Amino acid sequence: MGEKLTWRDRLTNLRMALGREPTLAEKLECASIHRMTPDEIEEQRLSFVRAFTARCEHGVLDFEQCPNCRGRAALAREEGR
Ligand SMILES: [Zn+2]
Repeated sequence: MGEKLTWRDRLTNLRMALGREPTLAEKLECASIHRMTPDEIEEQRLSFVRAFTARCEHGVLDFEQCPNCRGRAALAREEGR
């Protein structure tokens, strides 16, 4: 539990162990064992917050409040049937 390796540290270690740039498959394998550090968790949380506070394509801050977005979501549900 005392692991404090960041994702960047892990990639650096992997790169050094291999002596080359890891392939995508190797990075994915590494990612599957990676536990995010508190900083990374916070960073991810903030990026979610940014994603959810971005304006929709109609310039409405909260897409839940945008009649166009809501209308489109309702339409998508209809078509999904
Ligand atoms: Zn919208």
